[in-house]
Amino acid sequence: MNIMSQKIEKVRCLIIGSGPAGYTAAIYAARADLKPVMYEGLQPGGQLTITTDVDNYPGYPDGIKGPEMMEDFKKQAKRFGTDVRFGIVTRVDFSQRPFMVESDDGKKILAETVILATGASAMWLGLETEKLYMGQGVSGCATCDGFFYRGQDVAVVGGGDTAAEEATYLAKLCKKVYLIHRRDELRASKVMQHKVFNTPNIEMVWDSVSEKVLGDDSGVTGVRVRNVKSGETRDIAVTGFFVAIGHSPNTGIFKGHVELDPAGYVRTIPGSTRTNVEGIFACGEVQDHYYRQAVTAAGTGCMAAIEAERYLSSVH
Ligand code: NAP
Repeated sequence: MNIMSQKIEKVRCLIIGSGPAGYTAAIYAARADLKPVMYEGLQPGGQLTITTDVDNYPGYPDGIKGPEMMEDFKKQAKRFGTDVRFGIVTRVDFSQRPFMVESDDGKKILAETVILATGASAMWLGLETEKLYMGQGVSGCATCDGFFYRGQDVAVVGGGDTAAEEATYLAKLCKKVYLIHRRDELRASKVMQHKVFNTPNIEMVWDSVSEKVLGDDSGVTGVRVRNVKSGETRDIAVTGFFVAIGHSPNTGIFKGHVELDPAGYVRTIPGSTRTNVEGIFACGEVQDHYYRQAVTAAGTGCMAAIEAERYLSSVH
């Protein structure tokens, strides 16, 4: 279709991303009559769709499966009229008003406000066996899944603040935590290193890379590590394997259009979801590498919709 003959759609509030932040923004925006349009993105439902049980989201006293919870979020957003679309936003232009957004089906949308809720993606080692036991002992979040490993032995991979934090968190619940790092010193801040070294049930496995996650029908049973200096391999018996080698915010298409911090997260004005571009809001993990919880993401999604509504009333 010729671009000129293509009808350009106009929306008041466009939401990019469909995790807890995006859906909560949608629920609030729809109830405020902003008639939100949502593009679900590459992973509809977000990171919770690759977790198993969610036991820490208030309101679910018996816990719930991540994918099921995201279906509930979607149903609730649709109940108030959110136009949820299966598709990906491929290009944005925030220098013009209304803002211009293009989707992978070639559609152009002019939006008066845009809520960025594209989240972040956990980085993985890329092992076949890591994928095989995902959700069956392999996890990317100690706060979410640590509880299931109470009294057991687990391993954490990584040497940054996240790995150090996850290891100390798990050490409170688990019998023993092996912290596997590929070098002979941690990247984590001194204060976090101090905590790790002073926790008696954390054992450092230095200079080591994980070669294979071991397991059977019951899930993870161990990890095979290779010492990069000696070349020796050994198997460590664990039932949980936590990968904490960093997250990467999904902000590629926003680069140059909205201010990002050095790690690539969208910068928001403290205490708000406002970005450096008036009318563009960011919520959830795309702007938060600190809390990274479904409930905090949902909270900021609510804030983004309220701020979008107030912004629209101030300009009309
Ligand atoms: P990070 O600082 O980038 O650290 C990633 C760690 O994973 C590094 O130690 C790295 O090893 C290791 N790693 C990366 N790829 C690997 C691979 N393929 N195989 C094995 N190991 C690998 O990430 P982060 O710890 O998630 O922290 C991200 C940011 O958030 C940082 O700025 C951090 O300070 C901040 N943060 C702060 C807090 C806090 O203040 N409480 C908590 C969490 C995070 P090398 O060291 O060898 O590169």
